[in-house]
Amino acid sequence: MTEHFWQSCKGLEDKQLLFELKELARQQQRCSALFIACLGEADARDLLQKEGFSTTFDYCTRELKLSERDAFRNIRVARIARKYQQIYSLIADGSLTLCSVDILASHLKPDNVDRILDRAQGKSVRDVERLVAELSPKPDRPDLMRREAPASMIPSANGASPPRSSSESFPSAKPPRPDRLIFSAPTRVHFSFAADEELRNCVLRLKELLWHKFPAGRLEDIFLEIAKQYLNAHDPQAQLDNHNAPRRSNGSFHSRNVPKWIRKRVWRRDGGQCTFVSQEGRRCSERKGLQLDHVIPWANGGPSNDPENIRLLCWSHNQYISRAVFGFSAVSKAKIPP
Ligand SMILES: [Zn+2]
Repeated sequence: MTEHFWQSCKGLEDKQLLFELKELARQQQRCSALFIACLGEADARDLLQKEGFSTTFDYCTRELKLSERDAFRNIRVARIARKYQQIYSLIADGSLTLCSVDILASHLKPDNVDRILDRAQGKSVRDVERLVAELSPKPDRPDLMRREAPASMIPSANGASPPRSSSESFPSAKPPRPDRLIFSAPTRVHFSFAADEELRNCVLRLKELLWHKFPAGRLEDIFLEIAKQYLNAHDPQAQLDNHNAPRRSNGSFHSRNVPKWIRKRVWRRDGGQCTFVSQEGRRCSERKGLQLDHVIPWANGGPSNDPENIRLLCWSHNQYISRAVFGFSAVSKAKIPP
């Protein structure tokens, strides 16, 4: 049977395949709407209990073979859709997914249902979560750093728990959760992830180092400070922004020192090799003892913060060019590198 499905897909041309996908998605949406309508009706009658199931959930998982998660979701959506029946058509035409309705379910009231459904239509699940955070902002959770259970405490796949020592301090041994980002309010995001002891120690040390600036030691302040510093130092975009920022009048920007980001860029551009080219077009092959040279000399107003004005030269060619510009005597005292 599986092979039959595969064979029928394999025979389709690209255009046909895309058409089929679209059509199947449409059918699936209509099916979902019909399914939750039927489920809601069965849930409202005593039908399932009569059939020997303790609850609608019991019926969905045992009889319909839905996963527990899907069962919960479908039941919640079926119940809210019976209350606000415009939900059926929104699911049927693909304006809302079951997941979105499930997220919205507890926020829908007779006086806001139309407005909320209107705003949620066509939105991704992430955007619907944002909407819910806006409708019902929650206070930030307090910072939390706690030890996860060690690997030996995590129950094995067959469900057998390892023996616990009397001194263990982990009330419930669970595997670490995957990284999560949860919106608690429109502009607030809750981060959650498990990390090694190394990060914990780093954070504790950072709190000490930044105590003068952030005496409360909030993790948000600490991480933001470090993230900004890192991006300022390493993000090419941030460096470009800094580069384009107006120069300060105290002249600190007009320095002979070549900024680190320009050094890196010039090094990459020049391939770590002297850029001197003879009149015959032969490029110097020197790669040792390279120096950053201002094409328009700094003394003549050449900028240090423009990569176009900086190039790599070997010591010998740097001296040669300096002599050509400033004269032999001005540069003859230059120290010859070892
Ligand atoms: Zn050279």
